[in-house]
Amino acid sequence: MKRRKALKQIGLGVTAGLALPTWLSSCEKDSPSPEINYDGVVGIIGAGAAGLIAADILISKGVKVKVFEAANRVGGRVCSLHRTDAPSDSLIMFPNNYPYSDFPFELGADRVNGSNSKWGEILKIRKVPLVDFRTLSADRYVIDNVVKNEAEALLHSDFVTAKNFKDNFSTFTGGAGLSVKQAATNAGVAAGMQGLINSWLGVPYGSSSERIGANALANGLSLIEHDGIELTLRNNPMQDTLLSVYSRVVPSIKFNTVVQSVNYTGDLIEITHSGGSETVNKLIVTVPVSILKAGDIAFSPGLPASKLTAMSRIGMEASMRVLIEFKRNFWGEDVAAIIGSAEGPMMLNAGVGRSTLNKALSITINGPKAEAFSVLTGDQVVESIIAEMDVWFGGDATENVRRSTLPGEENKLIYTIKDWTKDPFAKGGFSFPLTGGIPTDREALAAPVAGKLFFAGEATDTTGEFGTISGALKSGERAAFEVIDEIVE
Ligand SMILES: Cc1cc2nc3c(=O)[nH]c(=O)nc-3n(C[C@H](O)[C@H](O)[C@H](O)COP(=O)(O)OP(=O)(O)OC[C@H]3O[C@@H](n4cnc5c(N)ncnc54)[C@H](O)[C@@H]3O)c2cc1C
Repeated sequence: MKRRKALKQIGLGVTAGLALPTWLSSCEKDSPSPEINYDGVVGIIGAGAAGLIAADILISKGVKVKVFEAANRVGGRVCSLHRTDAPSDSLIMFPNNYPYSDFPFELGADRVNGSNSKWGEILKIRKVPLVDFRTLSADRYVIDNVVKNEAEALLHSDFVTAKNFKDNFSTFTGGAGLSVKQAATNAGVAAGMQGLINSWLGVPYGSSSERIGANALANGLSLIEHDGIELTLRNNPMQDTLLSVYSRVVPSIKFNTVVQSVNYTGDLIEITHSGGSETVNKLIVTVPVSILKAGDIAFSPGLPASKLTAMSRIGMEASMRVLIEFKRNFWGEDVAAIIGSAEGPMMLNAGVGRSTLNKALSITINGPKAEAFSVLTGDQVVESIIAEMDVWFGGDATENVRRSTLPGEENKLIYTIKDWTKDPFAKGGFSFPLTGGIPTDREALAAPVAGKLFFAGEATDTTGEFGTISGALKSGERAAFEVIDEIVE
């Protein structure tokens, strides 16, 4: 077996090093060994899920890595609320660091998509307690300003048409220029059901149903191999869990280091960052596609046209997480999520199976609505959501929303908002195919350049799991092995 093929067959998995059989790690000097004798250094930009797994795999093979991370923490868009978090442009909290809730609040990724997905398997092996919340609760649908359960909703023929469209969407093969919303309209979905389509096939995929390209999204969904079971972490914050899995990468991370330019003209790659400049031999770029699209990292020579074209068809838009805790749960303890509304299109009943109180909503807003909310104050955002809920619940939201009793700040609304649009190292939520996007765009985005630059991050996932932690992990794994292939040639 060729050496590089052998390398590919080991080390996949949790932390790649832990997966190494002992006979491989205890080889004697001069005995055949799969460890890589490489004098160079592999640079990695970004310590999110993709960067962490790539670094972990390379470290496990004995390859020196340097991870450049702009923020002061690992995780990127896997970001849990901690009591030490300070408010910033993108994190609005009132009162500051108010220690409420008996379960972790997630500001970014909050669900594991697929119990047997990459991330799901890692958590299972590590015995991280998980909640299969849909076995304990079920969705509610906002139809004509009334919140209905599935049995009630199925009495509407329009709902049945919309649900069929959603259930069969992965087989859709319409024109590349169609949005999900147009595709739904063409399939006979009534205007009154478009809110539900947005909650099913818009917001969970990064924007709104009117901006996401139907063809490329459907193609992506058709590639997914996991079981689709959605889980939450019972006790552990998502970010801390990711950190614990990849903790051995931490000593190789340069925090607060914003990469500004990459010159790969010569044999060595010159990286200029906020702390100076240095050289590496290979480089894995894992920053969000929004950062690449914004030109925040100047590449010299410029990135190939194929990559720029692919990027122009992949979107990444405004995204916001709003966490509101109420005095009591008036929407129902057995509710998984309330979906179909305009102001808060995905309201996760976040405490199901993990909170004794179960009275908090974790609301995800993406695309145009998040754009509109991003220019409002936090109070205005929460008031809009509450006003809409009041219509469904006869004023219960206003009556039960928690308000401050702090002297001088009595009655101020209590909430936490993470506005990913204002996070300078994310500039949005997660990637999605724009109308006109084609399935091969992600392959073009992922393609290595000149045997020196390698690309990872959720947007480069080619297995239909873009926009997820698993997609990011798989892309980081792929890029690490692309580098290995290159350096053991
Ligand atoms: C609101 C929201 C909800 C989500 N919900 C889910 C969910 O329920 N389930 C799920 O699986 N996924 C979810 N996701 C998506 C998931 O969080 C991402 O797909 C995944 O975390 C992306 O990982 P990544 O490594 O590709 O990118 P990132 O996590 O963004 O990592 C990139 C890193 O690069 C750093 N960086 C950026 N610019 C520079 C620079 N110039 N120099 C140096 N470093 C830089 C960033 O600071 C960051 O740490 C959600 C995302 C959001 C925003």
